[in-house]
Amino acid sequence: MYIVHVASECAPVAKVGGLADVIFGLSWEHAIRGHDVEIIVPKYDCMRYDHVWGMSVSHSDLWVPWFGGAIHCTVWFGFVHGRKVFFIDPHSNDNFFNRKTFYGCHDDVMRYAFFCKAALEFMLKSGKRPDIIHCHDWQTGLLPVLLAEVYQHNGMWGQRVCYTVHNFKHQGIFGRDILDATGLGRPDYYFSPAQLRDDNNAQVLNCMKGGIVYSNFVTTVSPKHAWEARHTPQGHGLGATLNTHQGKFGGVLNGVDYNTWNPELDGFLPCRYGIETLDDKYHNKDALRDRFWLYKSNKPIISYVGRLDDQKGLNLVCHAAHYALSRGAQFVLLGSPSNNAIYNQFAHLRNQLGQSVDCHIELGFNEELSHLIYSGSDMMVVPSVFEPCGLSQLIALRYGTVPIVRSVGGLADTVFDKDHAHADLSMRNGFTFNDLNNQGLESAMNRAISLYYDYPGHFRILMANGMRSDYSWNHPGTHYMNIYDLIRHK
Ligand code: ADP
Repeated sequence: MYIVHVASECAPVAKVGGLADVIFGLSWEHAIRGHDVEIIVPKYDCMRYDHVWGMSVSHSDLWVPWFGGAIHCTVWFGFVHGRKVFFIDPHSNDNFFNRKTFYGCHDDVMRYAFFCKAALEFMLKSGKRPDIIHCHDWQTGLLPVLLAEVYQHNGMWGQRVCYTVHNFKHQGIFGRDILDATGLGRPDYYFSPAQLRDDNNAQVLNCMKGGIVYSNFVTTVSPKHAWEARHTPQGHGLGATLNTHQGKFGGVLNGVDYNTWNPELDGFLPCRYGIETLDDKYHNKDALRDRFWLYKSNKPIISYVGRLDDQKGLNLVCHAAHYALSRGAQFVLLGSPSNNAIYNQFAHLRNQLGQSVDCHIELGFNEELSHLIYSGSDMMVVPSVFEPCGLSQLIALRYGTVPIVRSVGGLADTVFDKDHAHADLSMRNGFTFNDLNNQGLESAMNRAISLYYDYPGHFRILMANGMRSDYSWNHPGTHYMNIYDLIRHK
């Protein structure tokens, strides 16, 4: 099968969060099964070019229709750890992807509307006719709309679209200007509730809704979150649209790329280890302490790695730091704040706790460091408000780091409580809590820390259970292949 992923991120070259890992992992899973898989992303100035091999010009003369004129683009090609990736590089005064940042610009919707148009124009002009175009999140929600309304009539009639929502919180809200820019036009048509009109604000259009309405199949990244999105506020206003389209909507749990995230192979670790050599994990704990000047003692290290966004339960992340220290544990945080207010909140925490020999707060994005933290920690907290899938707990499991999570979305589908789960004993792999407050978090952290100190043998069983579980791309790869087959033959 010929599959093209169109996305705003791809690990490790353009990574903000889990979306990047999914593009990297899923594309490889299908490639090694013998399918022809390509990826199209924007060519950002802030990409990790050191992870692109053989970057060369693939098409030098792509003209993308835009606002009645056209923007000249170069399309580059390179290998990202074996994956075939095309990079769209527009040349205009808008400088769409030369902003020294991936997201957060005032014209983000315009930037990605252009990206959708350019990706389709590139496929059209270069003769690419994939069986499946797999789009991801709001940034590519307009692609299936443009395909059905414009490009299908220009010769791309055989392509089917699978659309995956990684996060319902960000939907890409826009007005008539984007209809003009992309050539969709016809505002009366698109402003209908059955089309792109936002369900909460009749004055605006919604990219993600477009993706849901126009795609042949829609997924989100865990079964539990598929239910939450339809039946709770976690659909962020799209529940009704999802219910209308429920016949083509489902949840597929994300996997983790076990070539990248594997303590037996991980080149970033001072000491590699596996389930048979679990004691070697503690050399990484020592290295983590050395790196952050933490005191060497018998205390457990509890960590947090992730974006610092309201979605992640930030007050609970702060509380986890204080509570860990008060309960005789050490705490390490690596987080990328999503805005200035959040940066200030965590800079304050750093000032409060940074002098402690038992705590380190690191603000920023650092892929290499994240590997050391996953391997050197004993436990990892993920107290999210909502979590479509969550990869950090899956990576933690692989590294024998026991997750302490709030039981929502993909966290509920993957972490089974040591004491309360209905799951078989051999499946139990962490600690969970339900209530979104300090008491809820403390109840789970307290049990985890007690087990670590009082029953180290039992704690080790939890570590091993997590390391044994299979959250690779194997199962999800098959699941997506079944979806592709289904829509291809419709
Ligand atoms: P989300 O997609 O909401 O950001 P996930 O848990 O699904 O959350 O995926 C997060 C991914 O991004 C993981 O691979 C995690 O290790 C990585 N990550 C997030 N923030 C950082 C950071 N500040 N430094 C390094 N890696 C990070």
